[in-house]
Amino acid sequence: MSKARGYAATTAKAALTPYSFERREPRDHDVAIDIKYCGICHSDIHQAREEWGTAIFPMVPGHEIAGVVTAVGGKVTKYKVGDKVGVGCFVDSCRECVACHRGLEQYCAQQAVWTYNAREKDGRPTYGGYSEKIVVDENYVLRMPANLPLDAAAPLLCAGITLYSPLMHWHAGPGKKVAIVGLGGLGHMGVKLAHALGADVTVLSQSLKKEADGKRLGADHFYATADPATFTKLKNSFDLIINTVSAGIDWNQYLSLLAVDGSMVVVGIPEEQNSVAAFSLVMGRHSLAGSAIGGIQETQQMLDFCGKHNITSDIEIITIQKVNEAYDRVLKSDVRYRFVIDMASLKAA
Ligand code: NAP
Ligand code: ZN
Ligand code: ZN
Repeated sequence: MSKARGYAATTAKAALTPYSFERREPRDHDVAIDIKYCGICHSDIHQAREEWGTAIFPMVPGHEIAGVVTAVGGKVTKYKVGDKVGVGCFVDSCRECVACHRGLEQYCAQQAVWTYNAREKDGRPTYGGYSEKIVVDENYVLRMPANLPLDAAAPLLCAGITLYSPLMHWHAGPGKKVAIVGLGGLGHMGVKLAHALGADVTVLSQSLKKEADGKRLGADHFYATADPATFTKLKNSFDLIINTVSAGIDWNQYLSLLAVDGSMVVVGIPEEQNSVAAFSLVMGRHSLAGSAIGGIQETQQMLDFCGKHNITSDIEIITIQKVNEAYDRVLKSDVRYRFVIDMASLKAA
């Protein structure tokens, strides 16, 4: 065991404070990683505030982890000391179920071992990336593209893959009209990726405040959802809508924007339940679906795609001491477009 410093929520809704805990020594297939940067995902906030059901405390959040390998176990073949690597939302899975065999470990029948707020197979709690180091099985570690800076690439590990996976699954590309609802951490990656894939991209944001940013990120069109005229004007428009909103909104309104055979994919996970009218689906043969992050193989494909197209996140770097302020700003949709913690600041904690 080795001591690790980090920041944790000790109880639900408590502010995050400095916290020391143990990381295991690398086993045969483990990689030990010195964490350089960790993104702040809205899911960190949902879980630290226990909005998704009973959570495990103390909780060290963080699943957009980018760092450098400092040691490897005796049987590791994929990584060596000095490699730039990433860790996303899960650090293990059963490896035997149909989903795991299909490379869809995020849908593991035994449930993937989430990077934090979960338990390892031996029952020990997992602790995430708001910390100086982490030890992870090599099969759940990603290789960061050499040409991308680690800080701006860190958010690809969750925000990037969460949008890449449905864009690929629902065939976003030339000739497809794609709308991204919510221009936050996930949404801005959706705009960049959908644009790089060649789709016609529309942002549906609460107001027009972020319009110039949206266009710069690659959006062809930008509309305010606070304006009721938006819903009349865009009726029956989109082949694919990806809804990244972190709060409860009326899905029926958005389903009315789908073209015939269009799909709305929900990736935002608000605390509130939603209700959908049969008519919203029946008229126009619409589909309503959901999607969670992506498997290891697809996450690596996404990273390689981003390396090739030079795609990273637009980030605001903060020190770990500012994490609670950053949470408040995320809740106010006041982030352009991902906070990333510089883990060197832990030394001053
Ligand atoms: P974020 O940065 O806070 O972005 C969410 C965006 O939603 C905001 O920027 C805002 O965009 C919009 N929004 C917020 N409140 C709204 C409201 N009341 N009405 C309408 N729009 C609102 O959060 P994120 O990190 O991108 O995460 C978004 C959601 O996805 C969270 O629920 C998170 O837990 C979930 N998530 C899911 C997965 C998955 O695998 N499915 C992975 C990661 C995160 P505008 O300012 O443009 O309106
Ligand atoms: Zn996340
Ligand atoms: Zn499995």
